[in-house]
Amino acid sequence: MTHLLQHEALQHREKQRQQLLNRFFSYIAFDTQSKPDAQKSPSSIGQLRLAEHLVEELEQLGLSEVKLSRHCVVTALLPSNCGSKKTIGFISHLDTSPQMSGKHVKAELIQEYRGGDIALGKGDDYISPVDYPFLQQLVGDSLIVTDGNTLLGADNKAGIAEIMTALEQLIESKVPHANIRVAFTPDEEIGLGMDFFPIADFICDWAYTIDGGEAGELQIENFNAAGVDIVIQGHSAHPGDAKDKMVNALALACDFHQYLPKNEVPEKTAERQGFFHLDKIEGDIEQVRMHYLIREFDAAQFKLRKQQFQQWADQFMTKYDLQQRFHVEISDSYQNMYEVIRKVPQSLELAKMAMQECGITPLLKPIRGGTDGAKLAVMGIACPNIFTGGYNFHSKYELASVQGMQSAVDVIVKIAVLAV
Ligand SMILES: [Zn+2]
Repeated sequence: MTHLLQHEALQHREKQRQQLLNRFFSYIAFDTQSKPDAQKSPSSIGQLRLAEHLVEELEQLGLSEVKLSRHCVVTALLPSNCGSKKTIGFISHLDTSPQMSGKHVKAELIQEYRGGDIALGKGDDYISPVDYPFLQQLVGDSLIVTDGNTLLGADNKAGIAEIMTALEQLIESKVPHANIRVAFTPDEEIGLGMDFFPIADFICDWAYTIDGGEAGELQIENFNAAGVDIVIQGHSAHPGDAKDKMVNALALACDFHQYLPKNEVPEKTAERQGFFHLDKIEGDIEQVRMHYLIREFDAAQFKLRKQQFQQWADQFMTKYDLQQRFHVEISDSYQNMYEVIRKVPQSLELAKMAMQECGITPLLKPIRGGTDGAKLAVMGIACPNIFTGGYNFHSKYELASVQGMQSAVDVIVKIAVLAV
């Protein structure tokens, strides 16, 4: 590279960094925590405020078809500048996790992480590479951390900032690119946002969620998921006078739980292993309600797990003659998006190629959870998940690498260009 080109590349890098940081810091100022009990979408007003802000920004950038749906989904189109017939979508979510406050986020930018513990704010909380070994890979990066009182919101505002910055870069550079559709969705963290997704405003060949972790992460598989609701009807009686009268729903619940395999639980499984998970139990002698999660990557195994659960329930009912007292309902929650992605292998190939051309090694990892992409897959759109450069989501130890975030912008731009 000549000196002049080198100088230009550095200037470009610095400009991208500033655009990205300005956006990220402005977005995390919105408190967009979703509320699981709201039973509507958007579940919080902050999400609507951020959505309105993004609509304004998209209009200023000059995008077409900028819309805010009744349920707070922002959609827009950047038409191809070279007559390309291809349309690629990018999605990030507006909300932050209900598990940790996202109000008054006081983020700090560490210009160059030199290793060791990172003190958070003025308190005595810190992030240590002993607890989080991935930090060793981030030595030399600029990191954004919290003050230890809130989450950061990199999940998923890093994704939004990356998509917006990529759009700006595509427009400014005038490089030939495909049609690009974007969508910013509410309530991903409570699994509601996609229920009202305006699919007619997001017609594309395939899409990507920008909602993953470390640079290189590329996810094409997630759990098949089902939930099980159990109601056990007991019969209460005075303990001193309960002989042959009392049916203790609590004792029955404990007994039923023993039917499940002890090692197939979240705390003892990893990678591609599935599980049964007792998620909630509440009640008294008269009635107990239990809720289980069933998770499995492989579709056939998933079916088997559900059948197995039903068998245990049947055996249990027969053993105690509980036909009238034991009710089990198994219902599907979401599917492994791989079933759709494997029919559109270009979606995976393009992301891999874009990463490689940006000097990033793709890390294919299954998601031990769901994504908006899984719900989009049900609507027929293949939607792998790409990294944001963020870590430790849903916690006050959440952080983001600025270099990782810049790599995400590079990959989004590269996908738009290669898709032509
Ligand atoms: Zn997320």
